[in-house]
Amino acid sequence: MTQYVFRFGGGVAEGKAGDRNLLGGKGANLAEMGSIGLPVPPGFTLSTEMCTRFYEEGERFPDSLRDEVAGGIAHIEQVTGKTFGDPSDPLLVSVRSGARVSMPGMMDTVLNLGLNDETVQGLAAASGDPRFAWDSYRRFIQMYSDVVLGLDHGAFEEALEIAKEDKGVHLDTDLEAADWERLTAQYKALVLEGLGRPFPDDPHDQLWGAIAAVFGSWNGDRAKTYRRLHNIPHDWGTAVNVQAMVFGNRGDSSATGVAFTRDPSTGERCYYGEYLINAQGEDVVAGIRTPQYLTRAAREKAGAKAASMEEALPEVYGQLAEVFETLERHYRDMQDIEFTVERGKLWMLQTRTGKRTAKAALRIAVDMAQEGLISEKEAILRIDPLQLDQLLHPTLDPAAERDVVAKGLPASPGAACGKAVFDADTAVQRAAAGEDIILVRVETSPEDIHGMHAARGILTARGGMTSHAAVVARGMGRPCVSGAGSLSIDYKARRMRVGGRDIAEGEVITLDGSTGEVMVGEVPTVQPELVGDFGTLMVWADAQRRLKVRANAETPKDCATAREFGAEGVGLCRTEHMFFDPDRITNVRQMILAQDEGGRRSALEKLLPAQRGDFEAIFRIMSGLPVTIRLLDPPLHEFLPHAEEEFAEVARASGADVETLRRRAAELAEANPMLGHRGCRLGITYPEIYEMQARAIFEAAIAVARDGGEPPIPEVMVPLVATRAELVIIRSLIERVAAEVFREQGRSLNYLVGTMIELPRAALAAGAIAEGDQGAEFFSFGTNDLTQTTLGISRDDAGRFIGPYVEKGIFARDPFVSLDTEGVGELIRIAAERGRAARPGLKLGICGEHGGDPASIAFCERTRLDYVSASPYRVPIARLAAAQAALREG
Ligand code: ADP
Ligand code: MG
Ligand code: MG
Repeated sequence: MTQYVFRFGGGVAEGKAGDRNLLGGKGANLAEMGSIGLPVPPGFTLSTEMCTRFYEEGERFPDSLRDEVAGGIAHIEQVTGKTFGDPSDPLLVSVRSGARVSMPGMMDTVLNLGLNDETVQGLAAASGDPRFAWDSYRRFIQMYSDVVLGLDHGAFEEALEIAKEDKGVHLDTDLEAADWERLTAQYKALVLEGLGRPFPDDPHDQLWGAIAAVFGSWNGDRAKTYRRLHNIPHDWGTAVNVQAMVFGNRGDSSATGVAFTRDPSTGERCYYGEYLINAQGEDVVAGIRTPQYLTRAAREKAGAKAASMEEALPEVYGQLAEVFETLERHYRDMQDIEFTVERGKLWMLQTRTGKRTAKAALRIAVDMAQEGLISEKEAILRIDPLQLDQLLHPTLDPAAERDVVAKGLPASPGAACGKAVFDADTAVQRAAAGEDIILVRVETSPEDIHGMHAARGILTARGGMTSHAAVVARGMGRPCVSGAGSLSIDYKARRMRVGGRDIAEGEVITLDGSTGEVMVGEVPTVQPELVGDFGTLMVWADAQRRLKVRANAETPKDCATAREFGAEGVGLCRTEHMFFDPDRITNVRQMILAQDEGGRRSALEKLLPAQRGDFEAIFRIMSGLPVTIRLLDPPLHEFLPHAEEEFAEVARASGADVETLRRRAAELAEANPMLGHRGCRLGITYPEIYEMQARAIFEAAIAVARDGGEPPIPEVMVPLVATRAELVIIRSLIERVAAEVFREQGRSLNYLVGTMIELPRAALAAGAIAEGDQGAEFFSFGTNDLTQTTLGISRDDAGRFIGPYVEKGIFARDPFVSLDTEGVGELIRIAAERGRAARPGLKLGICGEHGGDPASIAFCERTRLDYVSASPYRVPIARLAAAQAALREG
């Protein structure tokens, strides 16, 4: 029989950290912490397999589960010496969800389960503290009603507010036993009214209700949205943890808190966290009371008065610090911890690998390797290459003027600028329309996730460094300022008042998530510096990497950025972008609209010096490195004039009349330009275009070589080749021009001629295309077009249906983002194999969008390509991903 219930605590551990698929992250780590001797309240985990079965059987539990759960409860009773439902000294439990990966959107935890009008008396008597007993009971009814029974918590909060007003107090902690008792009766009346039936009094009914609610929440809308956004499979299921309560609300020697073993924003090696005296669980995150700092150093740094845990509860703090060390040594990674202190005794309630910013991830990986906790190779594998993106983007220019209107907590670093929007749905809509959005909320909750995702940055008025907004923003890599208390937000009017100013929806604000500053208007940004831990890790990564990394770049600025980011050459320089320059476009149009070769040549002559200048600049920056230049590729009609005055301008330049030009433009229109007169087909029909480009390349290369330094290595790339014959014709054209230029200039240099592989026929005929001295000396896989031509999907029109295709699992990921290794990848494998067989040492690279995608890079490593080429900002990502691929393959 399948085991569905796994016990932990009190010296028993039926699970371990490795069982996260079965027990969920929380359950597996509770068992693991117990097994290494840390103080964990006893409990049991219902496995994710039970969740799957629950859905298979129409949201019902198998009968056998009753006995298993009873066994689990008996285990807790035996360890605690208390009995579930005992009116004189009741065992209380928490019911907690826990999927494989931490997942907002899952059911919230229910605490203090097992209380009713009878057992609350027993709890009061046994603890000698009626206030604590009634406080626990009212919390229970409120949480259970909200989370399990689905009642709106507004009415409960209102009743609490009124109770505090009546008594003239501000804090929950100022209410006494009798107040809570009265409130409890009100709460139960609210349930009866809202639900039409009374609040469940039987602890067993309460327990089963809560278990079913956790499993039910797996298929709630919030959870589903989160899974979709994070590529989490729907069939994983969640586990449920039932655990003996420990009480942080038993007076001033009790507390609850959350902590990280290192700073999750900076990665600094210091304990980091918040705690609250005389409080339970969610009070810390909920922002009802302001949490206090864990360490004295953090308190002093923030200039706060309220005692840190280190000062208020020094003994337990000492134990906690020891637990931090034990956990780091055991898990060999930074941990995110939840704990409770009950009357001076420390209890561990959760540990998991802590989420962190990219900056912190780098620092922690490098530090841990230098501390000897992990190896350099592990450090390389610890960093998610895509997360580096956060570091590669600009931060606020320190010299720029900042019109600071508020200051909150630096909850997630980086700078963001955009239009203020006050609700998640509007954020999503406006972001979809291409606007940069800052989501501004009093505080965020899992319902806001889609809006946070759509926003450039997040600003909240309430909440600490471990609030929902802060944690989620750090996970998503969005800059975030939380707890900017001076913000007064009016959701209805869609505006906020801050620093004496009114800011309406749509007004631009800037956030600095590294300082907590909120500014009005747009603040200029500066490029990041790639030194320190980043530099160290990159050196380690480069030592492991086999694949070379180049950049797709066509402007001197992009080339300079790419080189700074460590590019080892240019893998794709598109020449057509240079044609759109306002100074040149008229000449380009004149060339295209010319009636004959003579007309084309005279226009091309005017373009030659400009192209030569472009190439010279690029060759200078990339001196000594290979630069792959693609000859003209797009359909000519893309350059055609549209407006009247554009036609007039071309007419002036060429001497032709507007009417003739219009007729010629109409002739050039194509039904399906993507498959039309483009790529090398242009070079076959209008050889003078490619002649001019080849001349510009070689003249520029010689000019740079003449200046001394390392000569550039031009790689002339012919686009959209389908047959050997096309390549042979164009290669001989290029070689003829090269020889002419070398003769004229009185010197020569090395260069290669190769082709892009972007048509299935080219991949299949790769052997013929590469063969002999007329064949291609290199292949560059143009995977954007190759994906398009292999799948028969236009990449410009794919947007409408790729989403549903991915959702239905037809594609695991968007094939224009991550290489379709099964189909497109198979063509690449075939081409690589046939090409290399025909020409040993054939150079192979990839230059589509995929060159910056870690999964696609891993494929390139497996296929033993020579290099990948990515956009400049992706170069470091590609370097790290290439190192990881080499380590995983090796
Ligand atoms: P989440 O996944 O949202 O963090 P948890 O299941 O960890 O939810 O519960 C949230 C908080 O509830 C915990 O951090 C802890 O403070 C409190 N809590 C959960 N179980 C117990 C327990 N058995 N005793 C005391 N407090 C608990
Ligand atoms: Mg929660
Ligand atoms: Mg938790």
